[in-house]
Parts: sequence; structure tokens; C-alpha cells
Amino acid sequence: MSIKPVVALIGRPNVGKSTLFNQLTKSRQALVADLAGLTRDRQYGDARYENKSFIVIDTGGIGEMDDGSGSIDDYMATQSYTAIHEADIVVFVVDARAGLIGADSEIAQFLHGLGKPVFLVANKMDGVHEASSAEFFALGFGEPFAMAASHGKGVANLLEALTADMAEDEEVELDSQALKLAIIGRPNVGKSTLVNRLLGEERVVVFDMPGTTRDSIYIPFEREGREYVLIDTAGVRRRGRIDEKVEKFSVVKTLQAIKDANVVVVVIDAKEGVVDQDLHMLGYALDAGRAIVVAINKWDGLSPEQKQMVKIEIDRRFNFVPWVKIHLISALYGNGVGNLYPSIHKAYDASMFKVSTSQLTRILEDAVANHPPPMVGGRRIKLRYAHLGGHNPPVIVIHGNQTTALPKSYQRYLENIYRTVYKLEGTPLQVEFKQNA
Ligand code: GDP
Ligand code: GDP
Repeated sequence: MSIKPVVALIGRPNVGKSTLFNQLTKSRQALVADLAGLTRDRQYGDARYENKSFIVIDTGGIGEMDDGSGSIDDYMATQSYTAIHEADIVVFVVDARAGLIGADSEIAQFLHGLGKPVFLVANKMDGVHEASSAEFFALGFGEPFAMAASHGKGVANLLEALTADMAEDEEVELDSQALKLAIIGRPNVGKSTLVNRLLGEERVVVFDMPGTTRDSIYIPFEREGREYVLIDTAGVRRRGRIDEKVEKFSVVKTLQAIKDANVVVVVIDAKEGVVDQDLHMLGYALDAGRAIVVAINKWDGLSPEQKQMVKIEIDRRFNFVPWVKIHLISALYGNGVGNLYPSIHKAYDASMFKVSTSQLTRILEDAVANHPPPMVGGRRIKLRYAHLGGHNPPVIVIHGNQTTALPKSYQRYLENIYRTVYKLEGTPLQVEFKQNA
């Protein structure tokens, strides 16, 4: 496990970004499934060169600048703007056959303002004179990497340069006993403040972990005899060393952190109320099946009226996850922060709960006796037995006949029964049905 650097492929349409994307990822797109919902207009892939891994974002659909009508503002309005901000490194692709055109210069100007490393690629060098890439020097990113992406030429050169400053994949052997905790949320909600507060507590002992660098985003610590690994997406430890202008928030990295975590703390800024992006964060954690605790932060700064309003908003917007524990905290002053721990443990324990097949089956039998499944085509749906199919999230697999015909409402009925009986607070629960032959 590790959180990988993000590389965005940027450039006008048709210059060969997708072709390069395929070369870099060689259709290794393991992460793509995890990014469902994000992938509509951008494509994500895993790339690896020697012992270094990174994530590539293809921004294939960007910019209507081909006809020269669009301005840089239109360009900024597109998804690729987001991709650029997600990225640690930008690969700027230009078309050597088309030569240098105005839109390339506009993109270049924009990229210069970002302060991120940019690798310039002159693509489609097959069939054009070697010297034709020289004009792109004017873009101010040095000599371009000459490439013919569709022939795989020049790709290794680029990979070598791209990965030169990347860390080798960390073989972080995280203690399996340790509770992996990710703190996520949109920018400025107070993640770093909370991380510092959690680690700064007197009873917390922070360790160095073998195999990690000083910049590691995995911070192992111990509190009251329990081990944790905090997965820091906010970059607390690196703060001060990074250019503050550079956006430190990244959805791709948030998703990676969620994947690595057992429990996710979703931080929300009470001053801003609950906004859609907060619910997206929660959605990512839900989709990944992680245990969840919500921390409504900056509670210190609100008037009694505001508090009342935010509380009503919380009730309304979180009513679809009644099992999520919501804390009102102030990371800045520490109020309520200590109370997060019991909820984190409860959520973790629920996500890892163990139970025998016979117990799960008994509960199923009771549930069916109290409220039988409906008839389908004159035959009653039969549910025979249930077993535990996994942890974090817990998966309960129910075997029976005609289970595909089982109405959603009945599935929810069973899910609620299991949730109630086992007091599964703080974790999603997956109930699956298996049709017996
Ligand atoms: P994108 O819109 O930037 O993602 O561009 P694509 O990767 O879809 O490529 C656009 C067109 O250029 C396609 O027809 C590709 O086959 C072609 N193409 C991509 N790379 C090269 C190359 O190195 N040489 C040549 N001749 N054509 C290329
Ligand atoms: P991040 O981007 O999510 O890591 O957010 P930061 O931790 O950098 O916090 C953003 C801003 O909110 C900073 O100015 C913090 O001082 C402020 N802040 C964080 N937590 C609190 C809080 O509990 N109360 C108040 N009033 N401000 C806070």
C-alpha cells in the first residue's frame, strides 16, 4: 500500500494524449473501478516504471480550442482544470505535425503560473524531420521529449525522466493489528488541524516506521495501548516545505487513502454548513465500504442560532446513513476531539465483527418467520442460510431460491435486522444473496 504521485496528461484534443495514456498504463487500470463516478470525463490508470508507481490522468475530452474559438477561460472551466490541480506532475503534449499553435502557448502560459513540474512532449515525431520539435522550445519548458506514442517510441525516455524524482514504492509493512485511520475532507475544513490535534495529545506516542521516509503519509502512533496508523492526506508533516500556493487537496489521493484505511473520519466545516462536496467525500468512503465517523469541525465559531441551523441541516442530509456517528468538534481548541476515539473503535469493531453461520442463520429464520418473503410465480422465495463473507465492510451472504426476485424492500428489512441485532454502528453492511442451484 502506498499513496502514489499523480501525473496529468494535458494538451489540445487529438495530440495523442490517450495514445500516450495507453502506453503508460498498458491497460493496467486497477484503480479505475475504485474511481467510478469520477471517470466519466477523465480516465485514470496505474503506471509503473522500474520500482516506481504513479497514477496517470488522461484529460482526453478537454478544451474546444482546436478551432481557435475557445479562450483559456473556457479551458479552465473544463474537467482538465481539476485534473491539473490533482496532479503532482503535468505532462504537456503537443503535436509535432501540427507545429506550434496559439492554443499551445495559452496552455503553456497557464501551466507556468501553476508552479508544478511540467514535462513537454512533442508527439507524432514519426514522419517529420527531427528538427521540427525545436520550435516548441519557445514554450519555456526546455527541450521537448520527442515521441511517437502510437509506435511506442520515446515513451521509455519520458518514463525515466518522469520517475527520476519519485520515491521507490514503499514496502510499508503496516502492523495488521494497527487501526488504519484516514482523515478526509475538502480543502480548509480543518484536516491538518485535526491531525495535529490527534497526534499532539499527551497520551499519544508517535513512532518512526521502518521503510518509510520522512515525508511518509503513514504516521504510526499508539494511544492507551492501541496502535494506529494515521493516513495523512492533508500533508501535515510536509507543511512548510511545500509551496502553499500549490493545491494540496486531491480526490485521487483521498480515494487512495480511503482504500488503505479501516476507518475514515470525514471532516466537515460547520461554518460552511454541509455542502455537496462533503457528501461526495462521504460517498467515496461508503462506496469503498469503510467504517465512517463524521466530524463537524469549527463548532467553536458558531452562534447559538447557527448551531441550531447546522444541526437541522445535519439531520436532513445524513438521514440516509443513520448508523454514522456525528461529532461536533473544534480541532483548533480541542473540544470534542477526544470523543472521536470511542466512535472510531466502535466503527472499527463493527466493521470487523465475527459471527458464526449458525447464529446468522438463526436470525434469518426468525426474520423470515416474522415476515415471510413474497411469492413469485406462485412459489415462495426461500432463504435457507446465511454466512459471513467478509470484513471491513462486513458482508452477510444469504443463500436461497429465487433470491434474484427478492424485492429491495425485503433486502433492506434483512439488512436492518442484522444491523440492529449486532449493533453495527459506524460501518456499512453489505447483504448479498446467492441463488442456490
Ligand atoms: P488525444 O485526443 O490527445 O487523446 O489524442 P489521441 O490519443 O486520441 O490521438 C489522436 C490521433 O492521433 C489518433 O488517430 C492517433 O492514432 C494519432 N496518434 C497518436 N499518437 C501518434 C503518433 O505518435 N504518431 C502518429 N502519426 N499519430 C499518432
Ligand atoms: P485542511 O485544508 O482541511 O487541512 O484545513 P486546515 O487544518 O489547514 O484548516 C483550515 C483553516 O481552518 C485554518 O485557518 C485553521 O486554523 C482553521 N481551523 C481548523 N480547525 C478549526 C476549528 O476547529 N475552529 C476554527 N475556528 N478554525 C479552525
